[in-house]
Amino acid sequence: MSGTRYAILGDIHGNWEALSAVLEDAKPLAIDRYVSVGDLVGYNADPGPCMDRIRELECLTVRGNHDHYCSHSESLSDFHPMAASVIGWTRQQLTAEQVTYLRELDLQCVVDGFTLVHSTLDMPDRWGYVFDALEAQAHFNYQVTSLCFYGHTHQPMVFEKLGRVTRRPAERLRLQRGCKYFINVGSVGQPRDGDPRACYAILDDGTVRFRRVEYPFEETARKIYAIAELDDFLGDRLRDGR
Ligand code: ZN
Repeated sequence: MSGTRYAILGDIHGNWEALSAVLEDAKPLAIDRYVSVGDLVGYNADPGPCMDRIRELECLTVRGNHDHYCSHSESLSDFHPMAASVIGWTRQQLTAEQVTYLRELDLQCVVDGFTLVHSTLDMPDRWGYVFDALEAQAHFNYQVTSLCFYGHTHQPMVFEKLGRVTRRPAERLRLQRGCKYFINVGSVGQPRDGDPRACYAILDDGTVRFRRVEYPFEETARKIYAIAELDDFLGDRLRDGR
């Protein structure tokens, strides 16, 4: 981890208003490099424009479950009907080139000494959710770098391993030598921790900070309500951050 300042974005999910607000917020912070823990698409109404913006930023990203299912043609019959409908609609919005981009994303990668993964390193293609120390423990067995960022739950969260694994509050954190950290950066496009503001993290000189950014979620919801394949619930939930 050099003197580079990183912004780590997660679970953007095609939310153009939230992504724009986050990038506006980050502008004065002199970010050197953007990276992402995946799920660029799914749920919201602007998957294509969000992908294009992320690629313009040369933002290194890993593949999330929505990126995966939207770029593979496997049957969605086992999915919840609401999820199947969103994925089906999103597939239709993407160009062939965008689909190829999503399909070829790696499930995990190491940048400058830290790791990015969407779900967990123990089984990155099984899309497990890490909400507690026990689930984090299984992941830590596979984490070789001292720091790993993840997403998928849409809730900012910090796990620290020094012998045993403990959960710490998702607030400004000075990384300690000899400890390992597994940090959920929260969600840009569909926060689920009760705070509707977009969430992302900054890594700078051994410190991780979380930022919350207001954005016009009513506009995002309006776009969702206008698209039959996107359930109204997806718009409603943006309002409460659930
Ligand atoms: Zn997600």
